[in-house]
Amino acid sequence: MDYLPIFVDLRDRLVVVIGGGVVAQRKIEHLLKAHARVRVVSPELCPDLALYRDQGRIEYRPLLFSPAQLEGAVLVVAATDDIGVNDAVSVAARERGVLVNVVDDGPRCTFIFPAIVDRSPLIVAVGTAGSSPTLARRVRTQIEALLPARLGGLADFAARWRESVKKALPDLPQRLRFWDGFFTGPVATGVLAGNVAGADDSMRAALEQARSAAGEARGEVYLIGVGPGDPDLLTLRAQQLLQQADVILHDRLVPDSILDRARRDAERINVGKTPGHHEHTQDYINQLLVEQARSGRRVARVKGGDPFIFGRGGEELAVLRAAGIPVVVVPGITAGLGAAASAGIPLTLRGLSQAVTFVTATGAQGGSLNWAALVHPQHTVVFYMSAAQIDHITAKLLEHGLPGAQPVALLERATWPDERVLKSTLADLPRLAHAAKLQSPTLLVIGEVAALAQVRGFIDLQEQSGAA
Ligand code: SAH
Repeated sequence: MDYLPIFVDLRDRLVVVIGGGVVAQRKIEHLLKAHARVRVVSPELCPDLALYRDQGRIEYRPLLFSPAQLEGAVLVVAATDDIGVNDAVSVAARERGVLVNVVDDGPRCTFIFPAIVDRSPLIVAVGTAGSSPTLARRVRTQIEALLPARLGGLADFAARWRESVKKALPDLPQRLRFWDGFFTGPVATGVLAGNVAGADDSMRAALEQARSAAGEARGEVYLIGVGPGDPDLLTLRAQQLLQQADVILHDRLVPDSILDRARRDAERINVGKTPGHHEHTQDYINQLLVEQARSGRRVARVKGGDPFIFGRGGEELAVLRAAGIPVVVVPGITAGLGAAASAGIPLTLRGLSQAVTFVTATGAQGGSLNWAALVHPQHTVVFYMSAAQIDHITAKLLEHGLPGAQPVALLERATWPDERVLKSTLADLPRLAHAAKLQSPTLLVIGEVAALAQVRGFIDLQEQSGAA
């Protein structure tokens, strides 16, 4: 280790910056955030630094550098474009025993600025000992994505409770266990999801429970929408909670590439239909969710798309709430949005589509469909779970006055590696769907904008229809 990372308290301490350009300004921004007293020595200032001077945020000396300027400094930064000056600053600072950073000039530095992930009070500093600032920034970006945005709020929350927890749980091992459980438990998950309102009450209850019982674990459920299939369309929160869950309940349509983002040692339960097997009933799934959570586990209920769009997430939420189990709902990109993006179909578009409807022609929700409401001009309709109903849908829409020339698109396995995008007209839809031998899952888009779909997998269709 060539450099020791440390966190320095600069509040009201003097840092001297030699140079008044934008490079100096970038460092000064950081120094001001840390409440340092900043003195800038430079014959000129860039406009932003001039503003800071006028606002009294920095102290300005309109001079050429001389070692005397470093008097009283705890840190020195050289940010001029003149190597001779930078070198003189570096030498003078070393002679005084003051740490110095010369921007982008490792050999002249005795300290370097790390790349920072700021979730104050939690801060992550990344450094490569000057070997590659670009690499440091890339790693920072990856860490940015890993750490929830409200982590700082969680750290503040924990800090506020620290003394009370210490009093309530004087036994150190028990206290450590409590804090361990806290950061992956329902209170912390709630704070990270922005539900701070009830957090203090929940914390009080959790603490009380830890003190009275031997601290029985309390389970919870994450109702996670994972999008249409491409793992890169997962939300950050979905990834964080997948990493946290002890057990994963998933449907058949959730690809392994997404399940692989879960904790390696998490148990996986497939509650979806598998070919040749009966589908588990919703009642069975509900019961399993409650049982798993009651046994103290953190349960991820993983669903394709969004949990509240044709996903029965609403029913599961109601059951869990009734059972008093904490639930976090994580929205996902619903298949209609993911597939439209992938096929290049703007679901609304000035002049072509002023509304979009997500609908299914199948099952309990499909039986009583208001067809008349779906045939307005400039209206895009996206059918879910309807591949087997295409003849019926076509007949109904024609019967309700939609023209046979209305553009349609079939979006099969959207965002998956073997995605197909087919387009046609309403009148020709049954023939197209038949020839295409559609695979699940497939969406049907009807409306003028469907004509804009970027066709993919068209060759297959030609061969099949040619053979038919
Ligand atoms: N909750 C999910 C929908 C579940 S219903 C969501 O918000 O997307 C299942 C239906 O979604 C399928 O029958 C199909 O119509 C559609 N679907 C899901 N993933 C899809 C995909 N990758 N490509 C095309 N359609 C998809």
